[in-house]
Amino acid sequence: MNFSSKLLENAVAEFAKLPGVGQKTALRLVLHLLNQDKQEVERFSTTISKLRNEIQFCAVCHNISDSSKCEICTSHKRDHSLICVVEDTRDVMAIENTNQYNGVYHVLGGLISPMDGVGPSDLQVDTLVERLKLNETKEIIFALSATMEGDTTLFYLHKRVKNFNIPVSTIARGIAFGGELEYVDEITLGRSIATRVPYENSLSK
Ligand SMILES: [Zn+2]
Repeated sequence: MNFSSKLLENAVAEFAKLPGVGQKTALRLVLHLLNQDKQEVERFSTTISKLRNEIQFCAVCHNISDSSKCEICTSHKRDHSLICVVEDTRDVMAIENTNQYNGVYHVLGGLISPMDGVGPSDLQVDTLVERLKLNETKEIIFALSATMEGDTTLFYLHKRVKNFNIPVSTIARGIAFGGELEYVDEITLGRSIATRVPYENSLSK
């Protein structure tokens, strides 16, 4: 692409770094912004930089939060004895949308993936174990994707938590999850949480 302006070229290059955005789309977005009021564009850029600078991760469950402890972890209406372990914040959002779950979460921040160099120490596993040591947990639900990474993570986590003798269950493993959750409808996801099965049973299938 030949640009008539270096400023334009730089802005397009920044947008093109976003996932799923090619050069053409980036150019369209940048030209769109140029047609907006200056105030509108100012608001846009302030929102993005505030997001990056001010967002926090909950000290308990590691979900994205506006404060040091998230709304779910501070809520008295939630069942804090039930922990649902998920890959990232999109999973929390998907499960919350089902209105079928009243427990709390633990966000791992990824899945174990030797191919990508992601090991257990890169994930929030130790903090999960620390939470279990508080003896307040009556059930752990693993809601991880039915991929090789999901299976590897599940296997590893189960090994780490089994000595606590806390019932461990998994959601129906056939459903798409994790990065694919925009394709999971709320009813299917809600049902799979309600009909979760003990971890041991999920292995024998
Ligand atoms: Zn939290």
